[in-house]
Amino acid sequence: MRKPRAAAESARFAAAAAEIARYLSDRDPAARALSQEEIYVHGSDHLKAGWRISLQVGDDFHAVDVLIDNRFPFSIPRIGLVNAPPPLTWPHAEPSLLCLYDEFTSTDVIRPVAVLKAVLEKAATLIAASVWGETQDDFRTEFPTYWAREHVVSGSIEWRSLISPGPPSRLIRVWTGTAFILVADDAATIQRWLEHFFGRKDRDFGQTAAGLLLWLPQPLLPSEYPNSGRDVVALARTAGSEAPRLLEELADGAPSRASVLLGAFSGDGPCLAGVTILKLESGTFQKVRRPDPLSRGFRPGHIPKGLLRQRYLAAAGLTASTVSRVDAAWIHGRDRDPRQEHLARKRVVVLGCGSLGAPIAVKLAAAGVGRFALVDPQAMTGPNTSRHSLGAPDVGQNKAVALRHRLERSYPHLLSVTAYAATWQDALAADDNLFVDADLVVVAIGNWHAEAEFNNWHLRQGRPFRVVYVWTEPRAYAGHAVAICAEGGCFHCGFDDSGGARVPITLWPEDMMREREPGCGAVFQPYGAIEMTYIEALGSELAMDCLLEPPLSTVHRTWVADRHSIERAKGLLNPVWVDDSARRREGSCRDEKLWERRESCPICGTLPNAIG
Ligand SMILES: [Zn+2]
Repeated sequence: MRKPRAAAESARFAAAAAEIARYLSDRDPAARALSQEEIYVHGSDHLKAGWRISLQVGDDFHAVDVLIDNRFPFSIPRIGLVNAPPPLTWPHAEPSLLCLYDEFTSTDVIRPVAVLKAVLEKAATLIAASVWGETQDDFRTEFPTYWAREHVVSGSIEWRSLISPGPPSRLIRVWTGTAFILVADDAATIQRWLEHFFGRKDRDFGQTAAGLLLWLPQPLLPSEYPNSGRDVVALARTAGSEAPRLLEELADGAPSRASVLLGAFSGDGPCLAGVTILKLESGTFQKVRRPDPLSRGFRPGHIPKGLLRQRYLAAAGLTASTVSRVDAAWIHGRDRDPRQEHLARKRVVVLGCGSLGAPIAVKLAAAGVGRFALVDPQAMTGPNTSRHSLGAPDVGQNKAVALRHRLERSYPHLLSVTAYAATWQDALAADDNLFVDADLVVVAIGNWHAEAEFNNWHLRQGRPFRVVYVWTEPRAYAGHAVAICAEGGCFHCGFDDSGGARVPITLWPEDMMREREPGCGAVFQPYGAIEMTYIEALGSELAMDCLLEPPLSTVHRTWVADRHSIERAKGLLNPVWVDDSARRREGSCRDEKLWERRESCPICGTLPNAIG
């Protein structure tokens, strides 16, 4: 017996197919349904029904197949060419099915005929443009698609690129692994990426080899794809005056194989492709012996080097590969984010890699910040994982060290991540340079003494960088992020001298402020992972603002949960904070507040009790 759901789906398909069939026979009386064999010709297993019609294209008529798959009407009809031109003559035909829509296109799933009308219109437009040769340029703008589909043998090893994708043609470095080939402008970049990606386990990754980037005037048409070393020589002639000489240099130094990265700007940004010129079967390039065809006509070892190279390149076959970019500009925003170049050079020091510091560091790395120093003396515990970026595999490890590994593995292109398994005071004592070129320090230690001391130190230094302090109120129903800048109040100004907030947002019964876990002095605040995400966002956002559009004076932002949640947890919104502001009365708001400078502040004030 069929399941009811399958029956319903099949009924929906049948009804939609019947509507399509009626529409097509009205449109073209000669329209007819296709047999399974005729459908199968188009090479897709999913197509379930089809009709052959005559489609008007300009003054002509073209026989096309209208095809629907088994998901229809929750899919878009396909149009197949009945007399398809040879492969790669027209773009957007693979080989007989027209490629009219991308995977993000959404269509009306209730009115299949309306969708089909639009599809047929689009197909007619594409066929007309293809007949007139107007679509040839799409082979260039969509180069990676056609290169991958038509020129790369399945199972060939993928390349990953860290190069800065642009001219000029130049020598690059190539690392060959078993799962991928990595290319970069220099060996140090490759080494760093591999160390981050594989984890720094004193591993010897082996040598990198020289490779060549040929920056071409434009992406290649399929007819221009190289099939031999000789073709690559021809391409080099188009890739700048230095390129042929560089290719010769590469061939001279590459006895077994030569890696050439092809690059060009398409209308949509740079695109890359890889070719490996393979050595000849007999002997190596440098040590040639008869009957090697390369040295034909010369005594062994006496063939002029230039001629040998020429013969090598002419005769060598090649394999084509796809190339994925793994450089920072691509990973963070696919080249479309103009802030990336700026962010990649920024250095952020994170003091406290706990439930706020760690996710903020992860968010800043994901947003494109390129350099980090992470400071935390504590080891991860099991319960930490309930509100932390790290998980069970990291339990027992120092939080800063584990977070460093997490960032490096996730973003191997990061320029530098250093970890200090220490308090900030000890880390600074061990490394004078900890804060030297910091663009921003994020403080999320959650300890008044350590934070007050850092504020005191920061002010004594003359506030050389901005500091964002992030913390939560009890149970994480409210959170704060304060940026201390060159001007305005200091961190201490917002508290009494023992760390009591001057104006807390939420109020709690004394016995609920802290829970105790078994063990001497072990206290913790229970709070949830969900509430924390708002406060993470608050801190991450202020940190990004400080990096991108740095404020001059102190900024204080707050977030608070809705009043009902707070009251359900037996807390209250502080009436002083609400201050009769209608929008604060119900909680659930994000605010920018004044961080009032405290005249009597012993850290930034000018009164005699200021400490030095
Ligand atoms: Zn102050």
